[in-house]
Amino acid sequence: MQINEKQLQLVDAQIKRLVKTESYYGKMYAEMGITGCESEEDFRKIPFSSKGDLRNAYPLGIQAVPDEEVVRIHSSSGTTGKPVIIPYTRKDVEDWAKMFARCYEMAGITEKDRIQITPGYGLWTAGIGFQAGCELLGAMAIPMGPGNTEKQLQMMQDLGATVICATSSYALLLAEEINKRGIRKNIKLKKGVIGSERWSDKKREYISRELGIELYDIYGLTEIYGPGIGINCDKQHGMHYWDDYLYIEIIDPATGENVPDGEMGEIVITTLVKEGAPLLRFRTHDMSRIIPGECPCGCKYPRLDIIQGRSDDMFKVHGVNIFPSQVEEILGRVDGVSSEYRVDIAHDDAINRDIIMVTAEADGRVDFAATAANIKSLFKSVLSVTPKVNIVPLQTLPRSEKKTQRVFDHREH
Ligand code: ZN
Repeated sequence: MQINEKQLQLVDAQIKRLVKTESYYGKMYAEMGITGCESEEDFRKIPFSSKGDLRNAYPLGIQAVPDEEVVRIHSSSGTTGKPVIIPYTRKDVEDWAKMFARCYEMAGITEKDRIQITPGYGLWTAGIGFQAGCELLGAMAIPMGPGNTEKQLQMMQDLGATVICATSSYALLLAEEINKRGIRKNIKLKKGVIGSERWSDKKREYISRELGIELYDIYGLTEIYGPGIGINCDKQHGMHYWDDYLYIEIIDPATGENVPDGEMGEIVITTLVKEGAPLLRFRTHDMSRIIPGECPCGCKYPRLDIIQGRSDDMFKVHGVNIFPSQVEEILGRVDGVSSEYRVDIAHDDAINRDIIMVTAEADGRVDFAATAANIKSLFKSVLSVTPKVNIVPLQTLPRSEKKTQRVFDHREH
């Protein structure tokens, strides 16, 4: 998607402000001779920013305002090394809440709703973002945070929560518990706002059906405010994102070149009005695509497709690039198989070949051997990769309240 005139002006203003500061990016741009941005050509010359930069700048190197203007920090831990610290000004915090309230509105949530918030509070951006948006909207926040399923279900029933905010894994766990206890009739939920982890259609259908709710995917990351920068509408044709706060481009993760609208690639985000820690061309490693054209809902905000996975989750076996989402799609086609799975990849020295092993859960009414054979042949026809397949009973694989690791690569790199 081309950057528009208004967005260019905002980027230009951000760069002009940044280079006057002693911040990490201010110094970097000044050294590189980047002093403004007047055209799309100028914009493309701005180097990508990355989580690696933010780690180098730890703890507060990227802060681009004086200390007295910072009202809060958030942190993302990531999987390796030092955490990343993001400082927010009062305006940043307010902007984030405005974007989040817009997300709730897009999902048809109003001030009459009661929103049960299960993502974590604290350094992580999740819980507090859901809460600030809820309060700005005027709805009632039920700030549970994660875990303690017993209490979650009690509050959900006693307070008559109408909206649940959760990761897809936790929403699934709650749906299973509600089902198990036979308390569905006491549940007043109408909508679920689910964090933007990639999840299978099968899991979505299960949660939606068991809880009798409509589901909305909300997008965001700590480095760019947090969750709340985009959400899908009722038409379920991708997530609208707020292009008055952000410019989004999609690149080929290998070459860094922009790909045309509609093509899959890595999401790169530029903040347009952020004060505390502006980021230009930030590589998210989230894989998606811009959906071209107008949404049937009539809303003019552009759309991103549902996140397909992480560019760094992609794994290569027998010369084929595979995303976890493709594994989920295959399993979703097989009768009796749940949405939980595990993939192990190792190198067998004796035959000098990589071995891929897929472990999937199936319910007791299906034949495990036939199910394994079915999955194996689907992998072969869809991905041109032949795995070993192991079927285990339902509820065998671990469920998690956080994002679950499902792919284990045991090869030496
Ligand atoms: Zn729409």
